[in-house]
Amino acid sequence: MTSGCIFCQIAGGERAAKVYYEDEHCLAFQDVNPQAPTHILVIPRRHLILLNSALPEDEALLGHLLRVAAQMAKEKGIEGTGFRVVINTNAAAGQSVFHLHLHLIGGRTMRWPPG
Ligand code: AMP
Repeated sequence: MTSGCIFCQIAGGERAAKVYYEDEHCLAFQDVNPQAPTHILVIPRRHLILLNSALPEDEALLGHLLRVAAQMAKEKGIEGTGFRVVINTNAAAGQSVFHLHLHLIGGRTMRWPPG
């Protein structure tokens, strides 16, 4: 738990969120400012600042986060129509919360390349 981190607060139950899934390693919850009909964040409980903070021993955790995102896509009914999993890393890529998170985005047609 890193004090002042809003995602640590959500993971610790100190800040409200619409949680869709949780286990001992991660949580999946509704993004407060959704960019698509489905916009869910998947976070590790442990405070990793960004993707580059992950160590070799975090490989299983990273894989777990991806599998949870895929499972959430299935539960939301967007696995067949299409979805994206995005990890914004550092400011120029749009990272605004410095606790590692995967965006699961879907439910609408998306363009490429992303802005
Ligand atoms: P990023 O810009 O990639 O760091 O993504 C941060 C995401 O966290 C944004 O999509 C925000 O809308 C979302 N967000 C910020 N605060 C909250 C919160 N309290 N509950 C849910 N989502 C949040």
